[in-house]
Amino acid sequence: MQRTLSIIKPDAVGRNLSGAILKMIQDAGLTVKAMKLIRMTKEQAEGFYAVHKARPFFADLCCFMCSGPVVVSVLEGEGAVTRYRDLMGATNPANAAEGTIRKQYALDIEKNSVHGSDAPETAAVEIAYFFSQLEIVG
Ligand code: ADP
Ligand code: MG
Repeated sequence: MQRTLSIIKPDAVGRNLSGAILKMIQDAGLTVKAMKLIRMTKEQAEGFYAVHKARPFFADLCCFMCSGPVVVSVLEGEGAVTRYRDLMGATNPANAAEGTIRKQYALDIEKNSVHGSDAPETAAVEIAYFFSQLEIVG
Protein backbone atom coordinates (compact mmCIF):
# COMPACT_ATOMS: atom_id res chain seq x y z
CA MET A 1 0.00 0.00 0.00
CA GLN A 2 1.20 3.48 -0.88
CA ARG A 3 0.03 6.95 0.08
CA THR A 4 0.02 10.22 -1.83
CA LEU A 5 -1.01 13.80 -1.12
CA SER A 6 -3.83 15.34 -3.12
CA ILE A 7 -4.82 19.00 -3.19
CA ILE A 8 -8.00 20.18 -4.89
CA LYS A 9 -6.85 23.68 -5.84
CA PRO A 10 -8.72 27.00 -5.35
CA ASP A 11 -9.97 27.15 -8.96
CA ALA A 12 -11.80 23.84 -8.48
CA VAL A 13 -13.01 24.36 -4.89
CA GLY A 14 -14.28 27.80 -5.95
CA ARG A 15 -16.37 26.24 -8.74
CA ASN A 16 -17.86 23.67 -6.30
CA LEU A 17 -16.02 20.81 -8.03
CA SER A 18 -14.62 19.14 -4.88
CA GLY A 19 -17.33 16.49 -4.82
CA ALA A 20 -17.02 15.70 -8.54
CA ILE A 21 -13.23 15.39 -8.28
CA LEU A 22 -13.45 13.22 -5.14
CA LYS A 23 -15.87 10.98 -7.01
CA MET A 24 -13.32 10.54 -9.81
CA ILE A 25 -10.66 9.72 -7.19
CA GLN A 26 -12.87 7.18 -5.44
CA ASP A 27 -14.12 5.67 -8.72
CA ALA A 28 -10.45 5.09 -9.59
CA GLY A 29 -10.18 2.91 -6.46
CA LEU A 30 -8.10 5.25 -4.33
CA THR A 31 -9.13 5.46 -0.66
CA VAL A 32 -9.28 8.71 1.32
CA LYS A 33 -7.40 8.27 4.62
CA ALA A 34 -7.47 11.93 5.75
CA MET A 35 -9.08 15.11 4.44
CA LYS A 36 -9.60 18.76 5.33
CA LEU A 37 -10.64 22.11 3.87
CA ILE A 38 -8.03 24.81 4.56
CA ARG A 39 -6.96 28.18 3.25
CA MET A 40 -3.19 28.49 3.05
CA THR A 41 -1.31 31.65 3.91
CA LYS A 42 1.21 32.92 1.36
CA GLU A 43 4.00 31.61 3.59
CA GLN A 44 2.42 28.16 3.77
CA ALA A 45 2.04 28.03 -0.03
CA GLU A 46 5.66 29.17 -0.48
CA GLY A 47 6.81 26.44 1.91
CA PHE A 48 4.82 23.78 0.12
CA TYR A 49 6.16 24.76 -3.32
CA ALA A 50 9.71 25.58 -2.13
CA VAL A 51 11.13 23.18 -4.74
CA HIS A 52 9.83 25.58 -7.44
CA LYS A 53 11.29 28.73 -5.83
CA ALA A 54 13.57 29.51 -8.78
CA ARG A 55 10.87 29.05 -11.43
CA PRO A 56 9.39 32.15 -13.12
CA PHE A 57 5.84 31.10 -12.18
CA PHE A 58 6.60 30.66 -8.44
CA ALA A 59 5.18 33.97 -7.13
CA ASP A 60 1.97 33.70 -9.20
CA LEU A 61 1.54 30.05 -8.22
CA CYS A 62 1.80 30.81 -4.49
CA CYS A 63 -0.60 33.74 -4.93
CA PHE A 64 -3.08 31.44 -6.66
CA MET A 65 -2.74 28.66 -4.08
CA CYS A 66 -3.65 31.00 -1.22
CA SER A 67 -6.40 32.83 -3.16
CA GLY A 68 -9.12 30.57 -1.73
CA PRO A 69 -9.77 27.34 0.12
CA VAL A 70 -8.27 24.01 -0.94
CA VAL A 71 -9.17 20.42 -0.05
CA VAL A 72 -6.08 18.51 1.05
CA SER A 73 -6.29 14.75 1.39
CA VAL A 74 -4.21 11.63 1.85
CA LEU A 75 -5.00 8.95 -0.72
CA GLU A 76 -4.05 5.31 -0.32
CA GLY A 77 -3.85 2.35 -2.70
CA GLU A 78 -1.47 0.09 -4.59
CA GLY A 79 0.85 2.40 -6.56
CA ALA A 80 -1.20 5.40 -5.39
CA VAL A 81 1.41 7.99 -6.45
CA THR A 82 1.47 6.98 -10.12
CA ARG A 83 -2.20 6.07 -10.27
CA TYR A 84 -3.21 9.50 -9.00
CA ARG A 85 -0.77 11.27 -11.35
CA ASP A 86 -2.32 9.30 -14.23
CA LEU A 87 -5.82 10.27 -13.12
CA MET A 88 -4.80 13.95 -12.82
CA GLY A 89 -3.39 14.18 -16.36
CA ALA A 90 -0.69 16.46 -17.73
CA THR A 91 0.21 19.72 -15.95
CA ASN A 92 -0.99 21.70 -18.98
CA PRO A 93 -4.63 20.72 -19.55
CA ALA A 94 -4.09 21.30 -23.27
CA ASN A 95 -1.94 18.14 -23.17
CA ALA A 96 -4.10 16.15 -20.72
CA ALA A 97 -5.65 12.88 -21.88
CA GLU A 98 -9.38 12.23 -22.09
CA GLY A 99 -10.85 10.99 -18.83
CA THR A 100 -8.36 12.84 -16.61
CA ILE A 101 -9.30 15.39 -13.97
CA ARG A 102 -7.28 18.15 -15.62
CA LYS A 103 -8.74 17.46 -19.07
CA GLN A 104 -12.22 17.73 -17.60
CA TYR A 105 -11.85 20.61 -15.16
CA ALA A 106 -8.54 22.53 -15.39
CA LEU A 107 -8.68 26.13 -16.62
CA ASP A 108 -5.05 26.59 -17.67
CA ILE A 109 -1.50 25.45 -16.88
CA GLU A 110 -1.56 27.25 -13.51
CA LYS A 111 -5.21 26.86 -12.48
CA ASN A 112 -5.11 23.14 -13.16
CA SER A 113 -7.50 22.01 -10.40
CA VAL A 114 -5.39 19.38 -8.62
CA HIS A 115 -1.99 18.62 -7.12
CA GLY A 116 -0.57 15.14 -6.60
CA SER A 117 2.80 14.08 -5.19
CA ASP A 118 5.33 13.02 -7.84
CA ALA A 119 7.14 10.24 -5.91
CA PRO A 120 6.72 8.21 -2.69
CA GLU A 121 9.50 10.25 -1.02
CA THR A 122 7.87 13.60 -1.82
CA ALA A 123 4.48 12.16 -0.82
CA ALA A 124 5.81 11.45 2.68
CA VAL A 125 7.14 15.00 3.04
CA GLU A 126 3.97 16.59 1.60
CA ILE A 127 1.63 14.49 3.78
CA ALA A 128 3.59 15.52 6.88
CA TYR A 129 3.35 19.17 5.76
CA PHE A 130 -0.44 19.13 6.24
CA PHE A 131 -1.34 16.18 8.48
CA SER A 132 -0.24 14.82 11.84
CA GLN A 133 -0.23 11.06 12.43
CA LEU A 134 -3.40 11.49 14.52
CA GLU A 135 -5.31 12.88 11.55
CA ILE A 136 -4.59 9.92 9.27
CA VAL A 137 -6.94 6.98 9.65
CA GLY A 138 -4.93 3.77 9.96
P1 ADP B 1 2.50 19.18 -11.47
O1 ADP B 1 1.48 19.87 -10.60
O2 ADP B 1 1.87 18.54 -12.68
O3 ADP B 1 3.40 18.24 -10.70
P2 ADP B 1 4.77 21.03 -11.51
O4 ADP B 1 5.20 20.36 -10.25
O5 ADP B 1 5.74 21.14 -12.62
O6 ADP B 1 3.44 20.32 -12.09
O7 ADP B 1 4.27 22.51 -11.19
C1 ADP B 1 3.55 22.78 -10.00
C2 ADP B 1 2.38 23.67 -10.34
O8 ADP B 1 2.88 24.94 -10.81
C3 ADP B 1 1.49 23.19 -11.49
O9 ADP B 1 0.53 22.23 -11.10
C4 ADP B 1 0.85 24.48 -11.94
O10 ADP B 1 -0.19 24.89 -11.05
C5 ADP B 1 2.01 25.46 -11.81
N1 ADP B 1 2.78 25.58 -13.07
C6 ADP B 1 3.62 24.67 -13.60
N2 ADP B 1 4.16 25.11 -14.75
C7 ADP B 1 3.65 26.36 -14.95
C8 ADP B 1 3.80 27.36 -15.96
N3 ADP B 1 4.62 27.16 -17.01
N4 ADP B 1 3.12 28.52 -15.82
C9 ADP B 1 2.31 28.72 -14.77
N5 ADP B 1 2.10 27.83 -13.77
C10 ADP B 1 2.75 26.65 -13.86
MG1 MG C 1 4.72 18.66 -9.16
